[in-house]
Amino acid sequence: MGIVVQKYGGSSVADATGVTRVAQRIVATKQAGHHVVVVVSAMGDTTDELLDLANDISPLPSGRELDMLLTAGERISMALLAMAIGNLGHEARSFTGSQAGVITDSAHGKAKIIDVTPGRIQAAIQDGAIAIVAGFQGVSQSSKDITTLGRGGSDTTAVALAAALQAEVCEIYTDVDGVFTADPRIVPSAQRIPAISYEEMLEMAASGAKILHLRCVEYARRHNMPIHVRSSFSHKTGTWVVDGSKVDSMEQAIISGVAHDRSEAKITVVGVPDKVGEAARIFEAVAAAQINIDMIVQNATVASTGLADISFTLPRADGQTAMAALAVLKDQVGYDTLLYDDGIGKVSLVGAGMRSHPGVSAGFFSALAQAGVNIDMISTSEIRISVIVAEDQVDDAVTAAHARFDLEARDVEAVVYGGSGR
Ligand code: ASP
Ligand code: MG
Repeated sequence: MGIVVQKYGGSSVADATGVTRVAQRIVATKQAGHHVVVVVSAMGDTTDELLDLANDISPLPSGRELDMLLTAGERISMALLAMAIGNLGHEARSFTGSQAGVITDSAHGKAKIIDVTPGRIQAAIQDGAIAIVAGFQGVSQSSKDITTLGRGGSDTTAVALAAALQAEVCEIYTDVDGVFTADPRIVPSAQRIPAISYEEMLEMAASGAKILHLRCVEYARRHNMPIHVRSSFSHKTGTWVVDGSKVDSMEQAIISGVAHDRSEAKITVVGVPDKVGEAARIFEAVAAAQINIDMIVQNATVASTGLADISFTLPRADGQTAMAALAVLKDQVGYDTLLYDDGIGKVSLVGAGMRSHPGVSAGFFSALAQAGVNIDMISTSEIRISVIVAEDQVDDAVTAAHARFDLEARDVEAVVYGGSGR
């Protein structure tokens, strides 16, 4: 009998009705002849509510205690789900991440999984029970403290468990019918992508598509674990995220989708002297503050002044930390001023087909021009083109790019069943 790992997000178990509905689905999978291991997120917006509560009490809570608090959200949903399955006449056993053998490093709030030892899960399913595992959490190998994997981390728990259990598939249940060619909340005619390669899904996730956690896709690619992203509110086939060689080349569109991201800000260091080592000094300071940057643009030096501007984007949440780290460098680097802009958004076109099809950038940029969208910065990878635009033009840019590359569905099929975006 094969093992199926199913992950249910917070919007799928938002209330008692949701928990019961999910329980029925799980039981149906068991009855269809599978061992079922379930990973569950906290109900609805519980994690945000717990975070607000912590912030009301302390401006800077300790990472250890914050993780202890946040993991309570998943413990609530796992126990309720086990009870709901019990009501349907099947045995379910719930486990915390630690009990399920999710071993992590000790970086509170963003712990990485270093090992999975799912002995208790294997024992439960051998006994014929359904195992329910609290998502997004583990236990530190060194400190033995409870850790969390970062927001949205339950997807990663699910894939890691699926890999360790050698499951047939990892099903990620959410509130939309799969991965769409654009966010259906912006483009109602977006279509479901039937199959997408790990590498394209990685680019989509890194470009702001919130449907799957970036680290979960990285993990799946490393272990070659097929992911089926689908809705818990319908029985439709969703999107298969698989190895590129398995994506039917006949069906492979040049462009898979358009992703957008409104979580970045832009910093410009104005008037940087054109000397060896200045860029290194600037970015070493940002790195020392533990900040990941995204795009970088350095404009041409103005001949008369010998000065250049360097702009880069970074998570908005890190904006003030980066500004402070750079302010300290003012005299050392000798730049003029720092500018901060959080009114930006990123729009990305992703598709493995652009490797072998010329003119994709030209088509993208002309679509933006026709929509009256000005491009501020550009960056590319082999299979992605991203632009920074004004935040209030993100929707127009996504819509224009989606239309230009003929991604529209013939019959509108995108249904958003609920939730607040996940
Ligand atoms: N409950 C956690 C969060 O909201 C983990 C998850 O949903 O995957 O980030
Ligand atoms: Mg959640």
